[in-house]
Amino acid sequence: MTETIWERWDVSPEENRRILGECRRILRAGGLVAFPTETVYGLGGDGLNPEASRKIYEAKGRPSDNPLILHISSEEELLPLVREIPEYAKKLMDAFWPGPMTMVFPKSPIVPKETTGGLDTVAIRMPSHPAAAAMIREAGVPVAAPSANRSGRPSPTEAAHVAEDLMGRIDLILDGGPVEIGLESTIIDVTGEVPVILRPGYLSREDIASLVGACEVDPAVLKKPDANLRPKAPGMKYRHYAPKAELTIFEGAAGAVAEEIRKRAAEALKDGKKTGILCAFEHEKLYEGFAVKDAGRMNSGEIAHNLYRCLREFDEEGADVIFSESFRQDSLGAAVMNRLTKAAGYHIIKV
Ligand code: AMP
Ligand code: MG
Repeated sequence: MTETIWERWDVSPEENRRILGECRRILRAGGLVAFPTETVYGLGGDGLNPEASRKIYEAKGRPSDNPLILHISSEEELLPLVREIPEYAKKLMDAFWPGPMTMVFPKSPIVPKETTGGLDTVAIRMPSHPAAAAMIREAGVPVAAPSANRSGRPSPTEAAHVAEDLMGRIDLILDGGPVEIGLESTIIDVTGEVPVILRPGYLSREDIASLVGACEVDPAVLKKPDANLRPKAPGMKYRHYAPKAELTIFEGAAGAVAEEIRKRAAEALKDGKKTGILCAFEHEKLYEGFAVKDAGRMNSGEIAHNLYRCLREFDEEGADVIFSESFRQDSLGAAVMNRLTKAAGYHIIKV
């Protein structure tokens, strides 16, 4: 057991300075700091120290072939970490860094294989959250960070979620309040002729294509992985983002979906199962009488923001089964459905 310190960011400038010094000391000594970013909370360690990477995998309970993302605070910090930067990647960087975009490059020899899950490539992101940027700058090393949850669970969007999963396993939690976006970064492979999306996120395929002319999506993104598939992003092959309850997604017209969910929920309740329903704000009334959570308004970013919190709340309430609407209509729909589909173990019913 490690004693986990909890610090609140932005209480005062003096406090911020003290906390940054503490984070620097921990990171330079090979320790672990959970920190807020604009996407989700990250679990950071010194990305050039193989021992720190090993600790990250251990704290998360994560398979060590699932690589980490290196977080930097300026473009100069990128050069020593990668072997080449295509022209289109420079354009993407200029437009979207700092921000919720991760790029996968051929790695330079200074990046240890322990950080990249044994791969010859390295994923790099420059977060825009002021606490993350200041912490990385102060540490003076690239900060390796996956999401700060136990492997397989929904990513943390508040410091309390980090504590639930990692208290006693890490050195410090930097509490910056609830995050802004709520879904992990868009991951783009920039090792080929055109960018390829390996994980959808806030930044869409259209955003990328309109800037650099073309953008592909890796076939493994929405498909259920099979034994023969060796995905580019190793994380793709694992069950992810999942609540403890059995989650099923229903797709179709809102009225028909609601009718089917109500029927199934009534049956599950009769069988003595604790039953939860997840729907858009606009449809909450369709589920009156059931334990329903609204994930937020459609086409607003609210569903992306609230999704992981809702899944964690169902866990806390001891739900056995969850029935969810599909949220493809939301402006962040592709990314939301990518996470929700994995959380459901690809269990989708069309009505
Ligand atoms: P997390 O954000 O916690 O899910 O962790 C980072 C994710 O980034 C991993 O699960 C991978 O899917 C992806 N990733 C990191 N490094 C690479 C890489 N070199 N190539 C492809 N994907 C990567
Ligand atoms: Mg993760």
